Amino acid sequence: MEQDIPLISIVVPVYNEEEIIPSFYERTKGVLTGNDIKHEIIFVNDGSVDKTVATIRELMATDDSIALLSLSRNFGKEIAMTAGFDYAHGDTAIVIDADLQDPPELIPEMIAQWNNGYDVVYATRLEREGETFIRKLTAKWFYKLLQTSSSIHIPRDTGDYRLLSRRALEALSSLRERNRFMKGLYSWIGFPQTSIPYHREPRHAGTSKWNYWKLWNFALEGFTSFTTMPLKVATYLGLMTSIAAFAFGLYVLFKTLLYGDPVAGYPSLMITILFLGGVQLTALGIIGEYLARLFDESKNRPLYIVSEYSASTHNERNGSALESKY
Ligand code: UDP
Ligand code: MG
Repeated sequence: MEQDIPLISIVVPVYNEEEIIPSFYERTKGVLTGNDIKHEIIFVNDGSVDKTVATIRELMATDDSIALLSLSRNFGKEIAMTAGFDYAHGDTAIVIDADLQDPPELIPEMIAQWNNGYDVVYATRLEREGETFIRKLTAKWFYKLLQTSSSIHIPRDTGDYRLLSRRALEALSSLRERNRFMKGLYSWIGFPQTSIPYHREPRHAGTSKWNYWKLWNFALEGFTSFTTMPLKVATYLGLMTSIAAFAFGLYVLFKTLLYGDPVAGYPSLMITILFLGGVQLTALGIIGEYLARLFDESKNRPLYIVSEYSASTHNERNGSALESKY
């Protein structure tokens, strides 16, 4: 009978979350046992420098459903999640933040939708609490622009909190690009997907690892991974400025022929030079962004390095602890 019950892997990327792990564990474990869900909880330690690992070990001593996957340094949440997916044994995996912003109470509902045949069940925030107006607005523009310039559909107001079926996990782990814009990858793989609305709570403890610079880079990642529109914009911008420059050149030529050449026009000269210089540098910068990513990918490094994987014996993976997928 035991065999028929599906195993659910809970994947939790953690980076310096010592304060929150105990309450996260308690609340999540309560939901899992309360609903008779057969599970493993994989904490992916993304190079934490606080007592995160010690806290997880303490929990592991009392609960053998917990596994610890430590990366050799901080690789970022996107890669930490990927590592967790690679090590998940479950028939399905659910990725959840440790800071309790993703309510674990949604887990049974997600599993119910998975039983209904959905491969990806994502949680959609009903409102973005505790976020500034500017952040909300920029997020909105970003998704709108990405939507119109690429062929993939990225659902609005979704984080990473979601359930993935086994075949969705396999599909996702076949995408080994280094620049991982997960929200794009989730929808790129296709399969039937559905959403569950929820209220996102403010962080319970610790601090968010996001700031505007990180958000900007995240947006850049999204764009460069899923659309080459900026390159086209550069082309057309260049074309337009050349046409304008040509027209202006004709105007200057005829003006000089008709009225002679009193030394004037310093301001217009400066403006033109500066403007064209700016346009050229911008276009070069855009090309550079793509080139840098091409360079990154071409090195073909593994996505992450594992420094430790420990789980109770029945979850133990075959192969060495230093295994990493390519
Ligand atoms: N996280 C991670 N690696 C990082 C940054 C964050 O594994 O480099 C984890 C973090 O511990 C948390 C989750 O990703 O469990 C979400 O992080 P955070 O709360 O900072 O992001 P936000 O909720 O503000 O989007
Ligand atoms: Mg958070």
